[in-house]
Amino acid sequence: MTDPYQPPGKVYLIGAGPGAADLITVRGARLLAQADAVLHDALVTEEMLAYCPQAVKINVGKRCGKKSTAQRFINKLLVNSARKYQTVVRLKGGDPMLFGRADEELHALEEAGIEYKVVPGITAALAAASAVGVPLTRRGVARSVAFFTSSTAPDEPDQAKLPDCDTLVQYMGGREAALTAQRLLEQGRSARTPVVVVENASLPEQRILRLDLRTLQLGLPAASGPVLVMIGEALASRNVALHAQQPVQLLACAR
Ligand code: SAH
Repeated sequence: MTDPYQPPGKVYLIGAGPGAADLITVRGARLLAQADAVLHDALVTEEMLAYCPQAVKINVGKRCGKKSTAQRFINKLLVNSARKYQTVVRLKGGDPMLFGRADEELHALEEAGIEYKVVPGITAALAAASAVGVPLTRRGVARSVAFFTSSTAPDEPDQAKLPDCDTLVQYMGGREAALTAQRLLEQGRSARTPVVVVENASLPEQRILRLDLRTLQLGLPAASGPVLVMIGEALASRNVALHAQQPVQLLACAR
């Protein structure tokens, strides 16, 4: 039971970063250490949760092909937790303000009159670029980058139009990447445009696959972790042998 006389606590929406426990911000880690309750995504590792041994931990993660927690339920849980605990952390993979449904959670908190603060995190695209050792922009080659997803809400039309940027980074696109490649080729991009796929960026299970738009059209191998697809001339390899690792196997689950 929540105590109606106890003022609601404060909620911190914190970016956990791409996965490696030491890629969360110092601010994020400090707040985790003070949290009474932590509501976290499925992608948040045990190592990261070790920063908050004192907290009640609730996994509200959504995993492809697995039973997920409905967003409306998460919003409600967040509000209820803030009424029950003084300091609540909502820990989200990468940066909370990118493809994280933060607007819905913040809206629920605002409606309930609960104070919140957002702490940024390293988004997967930037961790993936570091993993590959290739910047997303390059002087004279690429000066714009789009983070996009083809994943749509149930009532949203299919996003046929791709962003018009030099470098494209597709989130939640393991399955849709083949279609992305087809569309880019139709729009006149060269079949030899470099593509880099990174699975589990920053984690020990990290895998990197290099290909081009022509081969991406055929679909991606299966992956067991989250996958990011990066496309553009800026991704041309300086030294393939140095960075490329084992190719991933067939992609069954696009996340
Ligand atoms: N807010 C997150 C993105 C959430 S959407 C962020 O800023 O990174 C989830 C998608 O992010 C996954 O489907 C995948 O495309 C990407 N992703 C998250 N973590 C990743 C990782 N460690 N390696 C590769 N892709 C990752």
